[in-house]
Amino acid sequence: MSATHTKKILLGCIADDFTGATDLANNLVRAGMRVVQTIGVPAEPLDTEADAVVVALKSRTIPAPEAVAQSLDALRWLQAQGAQQIYFKYCSTFDSTPAGNIGPVTDALMAALGTPFTIATPAFPDNKRTVFKGYLFAGDVLLSESGMQNHPLTPMTDPNLVRVLQAQTQQRVGLIDHTVVAQGADAVRARIAALRAEGVAIAIVDAVSNDDLLRMGPALAELPLLTAGSGVAIALPANFGLAPSSQAASLPAAGGRQAIVSGSCSTATNGQVLAFIQSGRPALAIDPLRIAAGVDVAAEALAWAEPLLDGGPVLVYSTAEPRDVRAIQGQLGVEEAGALVERTLAQIARGLAARGVRQLVVAGGETSGACVQALGIAQMRIGGQIDPGVPWCHAAVDAALKAPEGLHITLKSGNFGTPDFFTKAFAALAA
Ligand code: ADP
Repeated sequence: MSATHTKKILLGCIADDFTGATDLANNLVRAGMRVVQTIGVPAEPLDTEADAVVVALKSRTIPAPEAVAQSLDALRWLQAQGAQQIYFKYCSTFDSTPAGNIGPVTDALMAALGTPFTIATPAFPDNKRTVFKGYLFAGDVLLSESGMQNHPLTPMTDPNLVRVLQAQTQQRVGLIDHTVVAQGADAVRARIAALRAEGVAIAIVDAVSNDDLLRMGPALAELPLLTAGSGVAIALPANFGLAPSSQAASLPAAGGRQAIVSGSCSTATNGQVLAFIQSGRPALAIDPLRIAAGVDVAAEALAWAEPLLDGGPVLVYSTAEPRDVRAIQGQLGVEEAGALVERTLAQIARGLAARGVRQLVVAGGETSGACVQALGIAQMRIGGQIDPGVPWCHAAVDAALKAPEGLHITLKSGNFGTPDFFTKAFAALAA
């Protein structure tokens, strides 16, 4: 690929967190777009071809003015790459508070784009998030009964999204309900026109199935800005004349050594670590208390891994059962324990790359952030899906790692993936 690309991107996306960005990118790839995800707003123009770019911010729970400033930065960069439509992506549980950040960021993007109307829908039926009459359901229950009412940062106590969003914006919020969506794109267009005539600027849109999202898709083509969870993404590539294809997910050929670094303590990850150990593959547990005691646990882990790497994938993990995690947190403090483990696993990921690992699985959302940073990854091309929400990616890494070919990496957030994910991932890459 040459360093200069004149081809413009079609869709520019701004995601309010890292794993949410990957989730969106994954849906766009599956629907036929070639997608690059950037970590923050790039300083340079995009140097590769893509139909869509997802800029991953960490703006979900920061003060609203900062979220607005970062989102506008991302908008300017995406516009400079030629984006014809902008997609502001937030969580499918609409994580926000009366202070924001969904309302303020939406307002700012609308003003910057000079557009008087946009939609807002977190519906993601594949992930059991549905919206009906403006009420958000998670699985079979209302959002406010789903556990999200107890979220430490963004407690969602009201499932009515018209009210939730209205509390965050001066603009009028309305509803495009399911009776309209069920009639198809023309009915949605007519409803948008009617809402605009009434002075509504942002409409929550019902969707209880992928069919609903696909039906409304054509009506969204005319809107300069969309705001949504990742579900709406399945309907967009068709608006640009793109259909699902294996080419959209194509990555450079994979080679090199294989490893897994796991700092997630979620139920699914505990099962995946156990399944990997039971498959007879080499696995090393690292002990947060030894890190805290000043032992160079990263050096130990790398010395352990080095002679094993030619024999197939190795696993280094801090993954533990909730009781053990609580005990560690009791001794070190929650934040200190998390930071120590993240730093150590990130050092290990870097050391593994320096030792020829070119296929890396990372388990854990925060752990992924730390590893991506340690590897000097600024952007990733999104490939095929291993399990729902978890694609392989390819990325250039820090030049000091002497891996000009880059590496294949997959970032698995806590509860994603089947029990055999760690072995299945490498098989999927070889296929
Ligand atoms: P998930 O996606 O499952 O939530 P994360 O990586 O986001 O995983 O979060 C896991 C957090 O727990 C990280 O901060 C990690 O450093 C920390 N952690 C990992 N292992 C342990 C452990 N054994 N004891 C205490 N904290 C741990």
